[in-house]
Amino acid sequence: MTWDQRMIYDCLRSHVPPMHESHCYDEAGPSVQPPLDELVLGLQSDEISQFSNRFFDILKAADQPLYVGCENHSKLSFVARMLSIKSDANMSEANFNTMVTNIKEVLPSDNTMPNDYYHHRKTMNELGLPVVKIDACKNGCMLYWKSDANEVFCKFCNEPRYKQLKSQRGVPDNRPCKRIAQAILRYLPLTPRLQRLYASNATTAHITWHATHERNDGVICHPSDAEAWKHFDKTYPDFAKEPRNIRLGLCADGFAPHGQFGKTYSCWPVIVTPYNLPLGMCMKSPYMFLSLICPGPKNPKEEHRCFFATFD
Ligand SMILES: [Zn+2]
Repeated sequence: MTWDQRMIYDCLRSHVPPMHESHCYDEAGPSVQPPLDELVLGLQSDEISQFSNRFFDILKAADQPLYVGCENHSKLSFVARMLSIKSDANMSEANFNTMVTNIKEVLPSDNTMPNDYYHHRKTMNELGLPVVKIDACKNGCMLYWKSDANEVFCKFCNEPRYKQLKSQRGVPDNRPCKRIAQAILRYLPLTPRLQRLYASNATTAHITWHATHERNDGVICHPSDAEAWKHFDKTYPDFAKEPRNIRLGLCADGFAPHGQFGKTYSCWPVIVTPYNLPLGMCMKSPYMFLSLICPGPKNPKEEHRCFFATFD
């Protein structure tokens, strides 16, 4: 089973009936699950929830070769690689479309590669890992969401939400113009990704590892061995008595929340990792979730707290 088939299977798994079992090995260790072919054939229309239906196009894309005879890539894996290249190279949409056009010219005519960037994105969007754009005050005071979604001025520093139009600066400009926020926080919803940890049998058995692993006195090999963790357990016993309750570690790259100085960058990533998992898993990239991209160039410092409100 390839990585993309496995990813889709894990998403579907909680919505399908139990079937024949087979063993599967991945980076999380051995697990038991039905083969993908049997899974697809065994599904009945009345057993498929509305949630699962969204994944069927992706399921087809994962099994669909890029062209007849292609052994290296499925349609889905190639689309994922192309979008990764675009991101790594900071490529414009126009350049990406030019590259796609050239690649399609040399592929066999029966290729299934999407025609442009829009359709590449559309193929991946069905995985259900959206990015939510939330307007923010340029000074980091507040987010324009929930009860403040319709505000147009910051409630704390009175800074306007949107960039000033030319006509507002005294320059005549009658062209219709979309309002552009001064700062935008990009939020990748965390809850669906945590739910997938519990839905996948490759990871769900490891969720309680922090409470069950052997400890050596005086040796800290995981955050759960530290005094701060034990103090938290004593302070919140109701939360601690359920080992499946999720405990998150937060990593921010480039800024110190309580520091006096900071460089300027175009953005500030915030990464969340579940510390329930063994150290060999929670420090690996598949389980380090990029959750926020704070707008730059100003160092967020203590203003990051308003951005973290999205985790509520
Ligand atoms: Zn403000």
